[in-house]
Amino acid sequence: MSLYITDECINCDVCEPVCPNEAIYMGELIYEINPSLCTECIGHHDQPQCQLFCPVDCIPLDPQHVESHDQLMDKFKKLTAQKNTSN
Ligand code: SF4
Ligand code: SF4
Repeated sequence: MSLYITDECINCDVCEPVCPNEAIYMGELIYEINPSLCTECIGHHDQPQCQLFCPVDCIPLDPQHVESHDQLMDKFKKLTAQKNTSN
């Protein structure tokens, strides 16, 4: 399940650099998460880094993008393989 950013976001810029998958970007008004790149940080960290660092606690799990641990691990492996190919 990816995470998403609610409209409580204060655009503090803290989450974007801590995402290991570069899934967070500045949207039209607030920061947004690309669900196809978010793995809940699985493969990189024990817990979602954006959630950990967000000062206003506005990054919940997104029920619109339900994925199992195995699916997220597969996504992590695919993203890592893509990164290695592009380097
Ligand atoms: S949970 Fe991890 S991978 Fe997903 S957006 Fe947050 S920092 Fe990035
Ligand atoms: S850390 Fe939280 S408040 Fe700051 S930009 Fe990211 S989502 Fe918004």
